[in-house]
Amino acid sequence: MKLFIPDIAYIDPRILKYDVGNKAVEQLEKLNIPIVKSRKVLIEGKSPVESYVKAKKTIYVTVNFQKKLRSCKPSADYQFALSSSCPGHCEYCYLQTTQGEKPFMKVFVNIDDILNVIQEHIDNNSPNITTFESGSITDPVALEHLTGNLKKCIEFFGRSEKGRLRVITKYDNVDSFLNIKHNNHTKFRFSINTRYVINKFEHVTSSFEERIEAARKIANAGYPIGFIIAPIMLYDNWKEEYKELLDKLKSQLEDYTDIITFELIQHRFTSTAKELILTRFPKTALDLDEEKRMLKWGPYGKFKYVYPKEKSTEIKEYITALINNNFINAEIEYFT
Ligand code: SF4
Repeated sequence: MKLFIPDIAYIDPRILKYDVGNKAVEQLEKLNIPIVKSRKVLIEGKSPVESYVKAKKTIYVTVNFQKKLRSCKPSADYQFALSSSCPGHCEYCYLQTTQGEKPFMKVFVNIDDILNVIQEHIDNNSPNITTFESGSITDPVALEHLTGNLKKCIEFFGRSEKGRLRVITKYDNVDSFLNIKHNNHTKFRFSINTRYVINKFEHVTSSFEERIEAARKIANAGYPIGFIIAPIMLYDNWKEEYKELLDKLKSQLEDYTDIITFELIQHRFTSTAKELILTRFPKTALDLDEEKRMLKWGPYGKFKYVYPKEKSTEIKEYITALINNNFINAEIEYFT
C-alpha cells in the first residue's frame, strides 16, 4: 500500500538536537507537509468522528525519555515505543481507550536514548535472554519511512548477545529491512484475519495479500516469522473463513520450512472501549453485546468482555486444529 503521508506535522523544538529529527523535518518539508513548531498539538474536529479522522492524519515529532519499560506478557518481557498510535482505523483497536480523544501519532526521534534504556534492561536481566515488543502502542512498520528507526533497532538487536526484538504489523512497508544484519534476533509477526474482519473493520491498513507478500519477503531475508490471528471473531461463516485464511496462508508459505509461530487472540472489549467505538464508528458492525459475553479481569486493571467459556474453547480447538493440519512447522505460542 502507499506510504502514509500526514496532513500536518507538529514539531517539538527539542527534536532539532537530533540527526533523525532534522532528517524527519527535511523529509516532511520535501513532501510539502504543513509544519507547526509547538509542544502542543491542536486538533479541532466538529464531532468525535471528525476529531478521530483528523488525529489519524496528524503527527507529532518528539522525544521519548521513558526510563523504566513496562512488562509485556505474554508476548515479550518488556515493551518499548519508537512511536505511538498509527495511521490505521481498525474499529476494534484496543488502543482506542489508551490514546485519548485525539489519537494523533507521536514519532520519537531520540533513538540512541531509547536503545540505551533497552540495553540497561538487557544488562539487568543478564545472563538471561530478554525480549522486547516494539508494537504494543503503535504499528512501528507503518511509520518507519519517517525516521528509519526500526531499521536501526533491528541492527542494534542483531549485534546484541542477550536482547531479542519482536515486531508486529499490519503493514507491508518492509523493503528497508531486507538487506540488513539482523542475525535472526528480530522476529516479525504479521497480524492477519479473515476477509470479513479485514474488509469490515481494518480500514487504512495493508490488504491480506500485501501482508502475506511482505511476510514472504521477510522470511526470504532469513528472519524468524510468525502470525497473530487477532481478533478472532464469531460471525456467520466464521469457520469457513478461518479455514480459507489458513489454507491461503499454507499455499503462500509451502516452501518455508522453519518454525512459524502463531498467537491467537479472541475478540474482547471493555465498557469504555465500547462507548468510544460507538462515537467514532456509529454504524459499526462489531458485535459489542455484553449479554453474549463473559467478564474477565484484565492485566491492566479493567474488566473486559470475552466470549463465554464454551465458545472460546471452541475457537481455540478449531483454529488450533486448522493450524496443525496445515503446518507441520507451526508452534502455537498462546491463545487468550
Ligand atoms: S493497525 Fe494496529 S494499532 Fe493501528 S489501528 Fe489497527 S489494530 Fe490499532
